[in-house]
Amino acid sequence: MPRFCVKVYGCQMNVYDADRVRTVLCSRGWDEVSDDDSPDLIMITGCSVRAKAEQKVWSELGLYEPSWLKNHRPLIALTGCIAQNLGERALNRFPYVRLVAGPRHIGLLPDAVEQVVKHPKSRINLLDTDPREFHGLNFDSDNITIKRENKYKAYVTIAHGCDNFCTYCIVPYVRGRFISRSPDEIFDEINMLINDGVKEVTLLGQNVNSYGKDINLSFAWLLKRVSEFRDLKRIRFVTSLPQDFTEDIINVMAGEENICPSLNLPVQSGSTRILRLMNRKYTREEYLDKVKLIREKVPGLGLTTDLIVGFPGETEQDFNDSMSLLETVRFDLVHSAAYSEREGTPAAVMEGALPVELRLERLNKLNELQDRITLDINKALTGEIFEVLVDDPAPKGEGLLQGRTPSDKVVIFPGSKRLLGEFVNVRITQAEAWCLHGELIS
Ligand code: SF4
Repeated sequence: MPRFCVKVYGCQMNVYDADRVRTVLCSRGWDEVSDDDSPDLIMITGCSVRAKAEQKVWSELGLYEPSWLKNHRPLIALTGCIAQNLGERALNRFPYVRLVAGPRHIGLLPDAVEQVVKHPKSRINLLDTDPREFHGLNFDSDNITIKRENKYKAYVTIAHGCDNFCTYCIVPYVRGRFISRSPDEIFDEINMLINDGVKEVTLLGQNVNSYGKDINLSFAWLLKRVSEFRDLKRIRFVTSLPQDFTEDIINVMAGEENICPSLNLPVQSGSTRILRLMNRKYTREEYLDKVKLIREKVPGLGLTTDLIVGFPGETEQDFNDSMSLLETVRFDLVHSAAYSEREGTPAAVMEGALPVELRLERLNKLNELQDRITLDINKALTGEIFEVLVDDPAPKGEGLLQGRTPSDKVVIFPGSKRLLGEFVNVRITQAEAWCLHGELIS
């Protein structure tokens, strides 16, 4: 039987897509092995949103050259939005890249991968000429139970693509127009996951708040329906767009016990001027008002954000506006990035590009500030008791387990592996910026 290996360099969307493909291949008798076990085929799937991730994948592709020259193995399939962006170049540059497939063709991948292994000289190109014009979706919606890395937690995609065209972002160009998944498909998948022992589900989309706009439904409606699956103990969702995060959604979050008080609400900049240049359709003040409202209605909220520094034309004042926003909001965590040009986006040709050194200098300053804030917030939790879903042994330390609080903070504590998949109460004894330490209480 052919042997394959999957390598994921990307966001949760890529993890989910890769899980679907590996499930179908395994169900057809393929063996999943590690990279070191000479697979016949390596599927590399990745995200194109940041230049760094792309560079990583490009270097990885180059690493297979010596092995290919020696024994013509392994064959490579490049998938995900990175394939839509770099696929043509990869086919031309590396003879062992035999299949490139954009994210809209995930459903065709298992057959395409089998073709490549059966006919090793074939080269398959499943890229869209222009995904912005591609409204369909080759998505395999068979009722399959997806093979997952974690037994107790799962992602469920509720929508694909994005219509927002933020000026720095490549997603609408590589993942295409926004399409909601049908509610029946989503509910069937959730039912299967529950039967498979899953206790926590994260609803996934580039902008989940847009759910339903193309099928006359709404995200608030979907969230409420999903919360009615009472065997689902925890529900999260990612990612939200501030302008579409309506009071209806907040009310459902506040009213349903199994919807976790955790939210990623990407602000991207604390300066209204830069937000306009980014084509984000809210001001600094509107963002702050929304945060205030959510915190009033959802007590104990864990709030994270995404923020870019060094956007073209960002002045010292604009940057200070981002710094002061962090001080005002006091996020639990910030996913920060120095702006990097993505070819084909409007921002890549804007005037006022900042030197890379200045972007990195600002990123360091911002991270130093946020690390202090995160540590302060975490320290204030010492002595508190949280219900934690034990999802894994801790990566370091014999006899340690790892889990998350409802507000999505990682907690590490001593305990038996028999507790995996259980909800336990943990008292916080010590705090770091990246995790909390605790002890089990009866
Ligand atoms: S909302 Fe903006 S940043 Fe998010 S995926 Fe869409 S275009 Fe990109």
